Amino acid sequence: MKAPEPPPEYDDLKCHDMPMPNAVYYSSKQQQPMTSSQNAQVTAVFQVLPYVGRESTTLVCPACKATVSTQVRYTNCTFTYMMSLFLFGIPLCFNAFKDACHYCPKCNAFIGTHKRM
Ligand SMILES: [Zn+2]
Repeated sequence: MKAPEPPPEYDDLKCHDMPMPNAVYYSSKQQQPMTSSQNAQVTAVFQVLPYVGRESTTLVCPACKATVSTQVRYTNCTFTYMMSLFLFGIPLCFNAFKDACHYCPKCNAFIGTHKRM
């Protein structure tokens, strides 16, 4: 009764797999930059209001006619509350689930909203 011999290549393989002592391991994933340009393309068109995305947009304020970078405030919307039902209220804490309301930083006029729905 002879047990099958272990394959001789095993030791060789082990040698080759030795990690290099200076190898650098990246523990964290690279963060992807948050670009709004992509998902901003899929927005419903508002008749009069200027087109705004989810981020601050540079445009001419319809009220004071100044070229401004809009001030964005995120507000809860129907989408936020609907998602909250499924996600146990988590969306209420994240701007990604909210409407982005744009205001003029100079005259504080409401400029437009980027709707989630
Ligand atoms: Zn203004």
